[in-house]
Amino acid sequence: MMRADNPKLTLVAGGAGFIGSHLCQALLDRGDHVICLDNLQTANPDNLGELERNPRFEFVEGDVIQPLPPGIIARAGRIRRIYNLACAASPPHYQADPEHTMLTNVIGTDHLLRLAEMSGARFLLTSTSEVYGDPEMHPQREDYRGWVNCTGPRACYDEGKRAAEAMAFDFARMNRAEIRVARIFNTYGPHMNPDDGRVVSNLICQALTGSPITLYGDGSQTRSFCYVTDMVEGLMRLMESDIDGREPVNLGNPEEFTISVLLEVVRDIIPTRAAVQYLALPIDDPRRRKPDIGRARLLLRWEPQTPLAAGIAKTAAWFAGQLDTEKLRIKE
Ligand code: UDP
Repeated sequence: MMRADNPKLTLVAGGAGFIGSHLCQALLDRGDHVICLDNLQTANPDNLGELERNPRFEFVEGDVIQPLPPGIIARAGRIRRIYNLACAASPPHYQADPEHTMLTNVIGTDHLLRLAEMSGARFLLTSTSEVYGDPEMHPQREDYRGWVNCTGPRACYDEGKRAAEAMAFDFARMNRAEIRVARIFNTYGPHMNPDDGRVVSNLICQALTGSPITLYGDGSQTRSFCYVTDMVEGLMRLMESDIDGREPVNLGNPEEFTISVLLEVVRDIIPTRAAVQYLALPIDDPRRRKPDIGRARLLLRWEPQTPLAAGIAKTAAWFAGQLDTEKLRIKE
C-alpha cells in the first residue's frame, strides 16, 4: 500500500504541451502523482490550469537540456515512470531554433535516461513518424529504416529523434534502463496552439476566423490523423505493457487522407467562405504517411477509436471556445 506522504511518482517531460497535458490528465485520472517538467517553449500555459487544481499534480519549469532540477533528482527514488514528450513538434517551431531542437532530443533524452537508470523507473520515449523521412515504404512498418535527409531543414527534428532512439536502445541493451519507444504519427485535438503551424490547427482556425486557407502544394499529399485521447491511451498502454522494450511501436491512425480531403472535412464542420491560398510545398515535406499499426494492435490491443470527422468537430468546438480570448490570431 502506497503511503500518502511517500507516493510513487510519474514524471512527464513536456507535460504542459499538447499531447503531454492530455497525458498528465489521464495519469491523474488513474490516481498517479504527476510531476510535469516543461520549459513552456511551445506549451500553452493555459493547458496547466485544470491540472494545477489537482493536488497530485506538480509543475516544474525547466529545460531538459539543462541538468535536471534538484527537486526532481532528490525524489529520483520515488519515480516509477518517465515519459519524455519534451520537444517542439511542429515544423515552424522546431525549425526556429534547430540547434535547441537537436539538443532537446539528444541531451534531454540522455538526462532523462540517466534519471531512469538512477531511479529504476521505466522510460518511454515519444519518437516520431519523422524517423521514416519521406518514406519509400507505404504504409510504414517499424522495421522500415526510413529515407531521411540529414542535411535538410527537418533534420534537427528527425535526426534528433533517431539519435534519441539510438540512445534509448543502447541504455536497454546495456541493461541501464527499461525502455519503451513510441513512434507517434500526426496527432490533433484540443490544447493545440492556434499558432502551432500544423495543418489541422491552421485549417480550423482559418475557417473559424475567415482567414485565407493555406494549402501547401496541391493538397494531394497525405497524412493519417490520430485524435489525441486515442494517442494518450496508446502511450499509457505501451508504458504499462510487458512487451519487449527493445522494439519501437507505431502509434497513429491508419486512415489516410489527402490534405484536400481534410480541408473538405473541416469545411463541412465549419462553413466558411474563406478562399484557399495555395503556397509552396515546404522542403522535404513527405508525400505520403500512414502507419502500419499491426504491432500495436497485436501487442497492446490498441487501435484508434475516433473517426476524423468526429475528432475534427471536437477540436473545432474547442478552438471556437478560445475565440473570445483573442488567441486565434494565426502567425504567418
Ligand atoms: N500543410 C498545409 N497547410 C498548412 C499547414 C500544413 O497544407 O497550413 C500541409 C503540409 O505541407 C504537410 C501536411 O499539411 O504536407 C501536414 O503538415 P503538418 O505541418 O501538420 O505536419 P507534418 O508535415 O509534420 O506531418
